[in-house]
Amino acid sequence: SYFTFSKVLSLLWLSCIVVTQALTQPWSALQAPKELAIRLIRDPVSLSIASTDFGHIIHDNPSAIFAPSSISDISNLIQFSNSLPIPFTIAPRGQAHSVHGQAMTNDGVVVNMTELSRFRNGDGIVIVADEKKPYADVGGEQIWIDVLHASVEHGLTPLSWTDYLFLSVGGTLSNAGISGQAFRFGPQISNVYELDVVTGKGDLVTCSAEKNSELFNAVLGGLGQFGIITRARIALGPAPTRVKWLRLLYNDFSAFSGDQEHLISFNETNSADYVEGLLLLNQPPLDLSFYPESDQPRIASLVTQNAIVYVLELVKYYDNTSQDHVDEDVKVLTQGLNFVQTFMFEKDVTYEEFLNRVHSEEVALRAQGLWDVPHPWLNLFVPASRIFDFDDRVFKGIILKQNISAGLVLVYPTNRTKWDDKMSAVTPNEDVFYVVSILHATGFDKLEEFQAQNQQILQFCADAGIGIKQYLPQNKTRMQWMEQFGPKWKIFQERKAQFDPNNILSPGQGIFN
Ligand code: FAD
Repeated sequence: SYFTFSKVLSLLWLSCIVVTQALTQPWSALQAPKELAIRLIRDPVSLSIASTDFGHIIHDNPSAIFAPSSISDISNLIQFSNSLPIPFTIAPRGQAHSVHGQAMTNDGVVVNMTELSRFRNGDGIVIVADEKKPYADVGGEQIWIDVLHASVEHGLTPLSWTDYLFLSVGGTLSNAGISGQAFRFGPQISNVYELDVVTGKGDLVTCSAEKNSELFNAVLGGLGQFGIITRARIALGPAPTRVKWLRLLYNDFSAFSGDQEHLISFNETNSADYVEGLLLLNQPPLDLSFYPESDQPRIASLVTQNAIVYVLELVKYYDNTSQDHVDEDVKVLTQGLNFVQTFMFEKDVTYEEFLNRVHSEEVALRAQGLWDVPHPWLNLFVPASRIFDFDDRVFKGIILKQNISAGLVLVYPTNRTKWDDKMSAVTPNEDVFYVVSILHATGFDKLEEFQAQNQQILQFCADAGIGIKQYLPQNKTRMQWMEQFGPKWKIFQERKAQFDPNNILSPGQGIFN
């Protein structure tokens, strides 16, 4: 009848208005209850800081920055978002050292994790020097350099690191946290006993491999998708005091990678403590600052002759008890290695100086105005079985031939057996895989050129079926994410539905938003 027809029409009209209002009136800070609203910051300077990251490639406009004064504040913010017809997104921001907007959000709220330090009142890092199982209880917002300082005061240290220590604990545990120690101890995510997490539903949950293990495994390497890490219990071991830090130069990739793989296969007692590698390319800038000045000319000419020189980086820790035999240990480790004769260089520095080595580069780059520039980085895990193809077609091919100044290129193998496949982090499906980090820094004028080169590298890997996985991935499409996670995609999706059903958290990763 006409009456029913007009009722249906008006109902339709009404629902159109409601939907349109919801879509055209995004959540506003004014809607938040007072206790949350007072923690939302919207001044232009803060908004502009939160709209970019270390990459300076992506720009997003958050509607507010949240300055939590407690863990409950974070939980209340998430619960408030979930209560709305259209929840707003929430991006925890550690140090924003991501390069592709991973800690950002458009229109949503950025949680400034560093604000939690104030509420901790100096208790953000608690060292428990238990004889059998020492650990550090650390706020998710804390940075690794502070964890280092606090633990060495007790003669202890975390076992697995990143190369750079001004990164937040929550940020690196959301990725994996890798460096030259990972071949022995696994990534940082393999060295966590327990976590406190505020899930995407706003629940504060303590989890570990035994308790609430599904959440624990989801969050570690979970790209911020399942919850906000507010505390991590990190495994510690005895801290050395000094290190022998060696660089060995190779003009042959096969000798270089063969020696690297040999070194990471040692059993624990007589193993190296750190193994990495990097390229010296016949392209500016050629950074030889590690080497004695008197040797720099002959190193430069080795690079000119070979176009590409591979540098194996090897470290042996020591302390008072082992200083008498550390030179002998180093000799045993380097015996039979196939570097170019007479191209072995050694430094002897404190443990903390070594771990904090990238910071001195940061200081120098900042002084030259070269730190806050675009960073079109590409980080890949390459299966060991295909590393020769990669060397041939990417290092000697794309990078060397295009000659657009590669910046720093790291290349080193690591052992997959030290990763836990139950966790969200993904690796290639081989026992040994290489970490390849192509760390460009550039002006805005060259950004597109570098991004095009990265695309070309990814395209080559896809065409040649190399079976890479991206680390700190920058995928755009659902298809790319499905490929990245491979067989783990299904469980990743299921965990998302379980812990963050409204797709609120870390939208900048671009996985579910
Ligand atoms: P952010 O960039 O702030 O966040 C990263 C992601 O985690 C975002 O999605 C964010 O929403 C989420 N997140 C942040 N905090 C939390 C939390 N508490 N709980 C849940 N999710 C959270 N990585 C390595 O593995 N090895 C290296 O050697 C290494 N070297 C680096 C050197 C430099 C100079 C730089 C800039 C980066 C380096 N990285 C390295 C990469 C670094 O580990 C990642 O970028 C990491 O995310 C940085 O931590 P962050 O605190 O800046 O995280």
